[in-house]
Amino acid sequence: MAGVSFEWSTPPRGLPAPEAPSRFTFNASVEQVLVVASVFFVLAANRPFFAAAMHGHDPADPATWGFVLALATLLTSAHFLMMALVANRWTLKPVLAVLIVATALATYFMARYSVYFDATMVRNVLRTDPSEARELLSLTLLPHLLLYAVLPLVLLARVRIVNRPLLRAGLVRALALLLAVAAAVASVLAASQPFASLMRNHREVRYLITPGNVVWSLGAVLASDSRHAVRPLQPIGLDARPGPSWAQRSKPMVMVLVVGETVRAANWGLNGYARQTTPELARLPLVNFSDVVSCGTNTEVSLPCMFAPVGRRDYDERRIRGSQGLLHVLARAGVAVQWRDNQSGCKGVCDGLPNDSVQSLDVPGLCSDGRCLDEGLGHGLDQRLAQARGTQLLVLHMLGNHGPAYFRRYPSTFARFTPACENDDLQHCSREQIVNAYDNALLYTDHVLASLIRQLGAQADRVDSALLYVSDHGESLGENRLFLHGIPYPIAPSVQTRVPMVLWTSPGFAQTTGLDLACLRQRAGVSVSHDHLFHSLLGLLDVQTQLYDPQWDFSATCRHDVVGSAR
Ligand SMILES: [Zn+2]
Repeated sequence: MAGVSFEWSTPPRGLPAPEAPSRFTFNASVEQVLVVASVFFVLAANRPFFAAAMHGHDPADPATWGFVLALATLLTSAHFLMMALVANRWTLKPVLAVLIVATALATYFMARYSVYFDATMVRNVLRTDPSEARELLSLTLLPHLLLYAVLPLVLLARVRIVNRPLLRAGLVRALALLLAVAAAVASVLAASQPFASLMRNHREVRYLITPGNVVWSLGAVLASDSRHAVRPLQPIGLDARPGPSWAQRSKPMVMVLVVGETVRAANWGLNGYARQTTPELARLPLVNFSDVVSCGTNTEVSLPCMFAPVGRRDYDERRIRGSQGLLHVLARAGVAVQWRDNQSGCKGVCDGLPNDSVQSLDVPGLCSDGRCLDEGLGHGLDQRLAQARGTQLLVLHMLGNHGPAYFRRYPSTFARFTPACENDDLQHCSREQIVNAYDNALLYTDHVLASLIRQLGAQADRVDSALLYVSDHGESLGENRLFLHGIPYPIAPSVQTRVPMVLWTSPGFAQTTGLDLACLRQRAGVSVSHDHLFHSLLGLLDVQTQLYDPQWDFSATCRHDVVGSAR
């Protein structure tokens, strides 16, 4: 019979007697181990879940504790059921060992950075490169792992699984599953009202249930990836073609789209932040969009979304990940597209298109420990402009303000706000030091962007050029004790979803495209979003397709018809 405690069992009749248990060895059945493991996971790994679930409940009210008890019973039963589906006397220990280690790592990062382990977080973890992982790991992880992984693993190693005859084992398992289902149903019924309200108002808390969240989200990611692995990206914009203005262009046209990383609008000097974090851009004739909403709160969501024809306004991750995006449509019309990466890749948006990475360029003095400074993105741009023909789009994917090691994102000459946090582990720094390091990284982004614009400007007599910069998502810097980013979109704080965006054009680019910059500057305070990117680039580069929707082109009302006026 399954029970919570271990038992010193007698050998079942008909089976060889197990060795007498040594001093530190426990005999236990699979079900008994699973019950203990479920209780351990619920008690040791779910503090953030219970804190979130109790939010708004009065701790002095006995009903609150009834609710907590019901939730604890439900979680224990659910974890028992989840593990009982795959655990037998041979698989039990490997399955538990993997879950214990995954849970210890997950709880460490959940507590430290207030992250939710949903599918995108698991995708982030799976795509983390070694240099990123190095920056996230710190010495404080060791004691946490000792307590929550090594100790349970040692105990698990001391368990000797009791061997039951097949029929009896089957009966015990069936009874245990039945009991777990009954306990789960009873706990939901006992607290149905607060439970329903929790699921209605704070559905995202289910991604705090550990290790269920890791297992569930990993399953979702693997299912989605295997679907895409067998199916190529769905082509879109098959009708894309150059617009009539192309025939009238006397010069090559080069558009540079810079995809920023983790830069939040709140700290952007051009948006009126108390510090001047964009001194070089402030001296250039730019259009600064001061109210821009990102599609996601992390790169894995934002990047594919911002290149899709329909992004956040009717969000469908499956459709976005399964389809081609803006770059494929532009390439189809004859735009020479090139992606250059200084981060974790293009997340599918440049699939099949020319791309390279700053690391592969091997620019002297810019790279160390597998990371390169963003100045490398402009490497070779002068020659590219000198040889430019036709219409080109160069996409530069920055490392930007990728945390938590903000201080590694800029050379020491940009350490102007001091003292800056110079530790990979933010817990060792004050909030002021963290913000200083973050703002220094912004100064460097400002410098990189201004340098690119100067490079474009220097050849404006022979190439019509423009640069559009937009960040992928924002960042929390300790507000409400949140750090980094990746909070589920519906509950994300605005610092994670408000991003900077600027546009610079050469005089020739504005003239050729009929763009009225004064009009656009006036319009730039109106709210726009990542959803505007797809249509605005089609509009600015004059690529025609049925997909184009002028409502989502931020430049549409500020461009006059150059073909019509030229006639
Ligand atoms: Zn990002």
